[in-house]
Amino acid sequence: MPEILDGLKIRDQILSELKPRVAQLIEKGRAPGLAVVLVGSDPASEIYVRNKVKACEALGIYSEKITPPASITTEELLAIIDRLNHDPKIDGILVQMPLPDQIDDQAVLHAIHPDKDADGFHPMNVGKLVENAPAARSCTPAGVMEILKRSGIEVAGKKAVVIGRSDIVGKPMALMLLHANATVTICHSKTANLAEECSRADILVAAIGRAELIREEHIKPGAVVIDVGMNRVNGKLFGDVQRAAAEAKSSAFTPVPGGVGPLTIAMLMSNTVQLAERHMSVKA
Ligand code: NAP
Repeated sequence: MPEILDGLKIRDQILSELKPRVAQLIEKGRAPGLAVVLVGSDPASEIYVRNKVKACEALGIYSEKITPPASITTEELLAIIDRLNHDPKIDGILVQMPLPDQIDDQAVLHAIHPDKDADGFHPMNVGKLVENAPAARSCTPAGVMEILKRSGIEVAGKKAVVIGRSDIVGKPMALMLLHANATVTICHSKTANLAEECSRADILVAAIGRAELIREEHIKPGAVVIDVGMNRVNGKLFGDVQRAAAEAKSSAFTPVPGGVGPLTIAMLMSNTVQLAERHMSVKA
């Protein structure tokens, strides 16, 4: 039987390592601070934001939730970001996506000061990822790297295939695996023969958003399979990988739920603490 990579256990390890760092910052003068901007009242976004605020509270991180109405203009939202950029209690700013249609998403993400970019989405921080220089990293792929590292899975020299090329998951994932010395292939919806590409992977990362698209024919025997997908079908959560296929062919896989998902908030907390340490000149 393959190993099931337990995201909840790894999340708890990461959070417990952050606790003394938060305590050190509080001793030095103040708690780290995270501002979460939630525009409108999308039910899924409200759940995500509630979980982020709860995680802050559990760690002793100061959090501020700003909830402008769905009718807000880009200019009004930029004014909120500007205030947070200048607020000394705030180390990290996160704008929950998706934003209403009238909002210029790019303008908003680019307005967050790169030193307060808790999600690692600002072009300056994306550039630092390309350079492999320290900066806040996109939380979900950073969480995948923690799963691999803390599960003792060797990445260097391995063939990694990432399915998906989004700015928040696929592309940063591929760069992080490359920096860890994997030989990386990126697949997407125009890839000619997906199963053939995937079946060469020692480490297969699915970040597609299509329930159970990845089947036995995509998985090399003994591969490590990381399922980033979160697809709700008739109220039930499915990954991008068919679980029975991962069980039949992989040496280790992340389940859905309980795999990659829990790491995303843990890495957001980690980014916030790191930004606060930088702002308060505390060495981690
Ligand atoms: P996205 O922006 O929609 O990107 C999906 C990617 O998958 C695109 O690059 C797309 O290719 C590719 N794709 C779509 N259909 C495909 C197919 N049939 N064959 C091959 N590639 C295909 O999604 P995302 O934001 O990256 O998220 C991906 C999944 O991860 C979603 O299920 C999302 O809910 C989940 N997610 C989970 C977490 C977490 O915390 N666990 C966080 C973020 C996202 P093109 O570029 O050619 O269109």
